[in-house]
Amino acid sequence: MSDSTDTASAAKPTRFEPPVSDASQPFWDATREQRFLIQWCTACDQAVFYPRENCPACLGTSFEWKQASGKGTVYASSVQHRAANPMMANRVPYVVAMVELEEGIRIMSNVIDCPPDDVVVGQPVQLTWEPLSDGRNLPQFSPLQEG
Ligand SMILES: [Zn+2]
Repeated sequence: MSDSTDTASAAKPTRFEPPVSDASQPFWDATREQRFLIQWCTACDQAVFYPRENCPACLGTSFEWKQASGKGTVYASSVQHRAANPMMANRVPYVVAMVELEEGIRIMSNVIDCPPDDVVVGQPVQLTWEPLSDGRNLPQFSPLQEG
């Protein structure tokens, strides 16, 4: 192996970036266009998240992808004062939250754009995106702006 570590145009990650698996590849590809796709089991007609090879309910392997509305509520949250991952150390304090989307799935994410202590269970939030170093975008959530 002779490849150098400072490859010409590769941006350096500035945060922990989730790995891509075969099952989650379509999900991550869609985030490049800032679309949040939910894997949907065609056998038992239910949303599956995180993307995986088999439906956790019926073990089916036939899926389609549906675009999420991007609206959800905070199901659980906690303020991190010490980063679990060293790459997140410059972000403390930050909010780690389980967000329940309208479609019924729950995603572990961060709630941003507000003081960490303001985030409460039941709070309406909306999807926003944080660019990753490889062109993907990471789903994040911010307080829903009432129109
Ligand atoms: Zn199923």
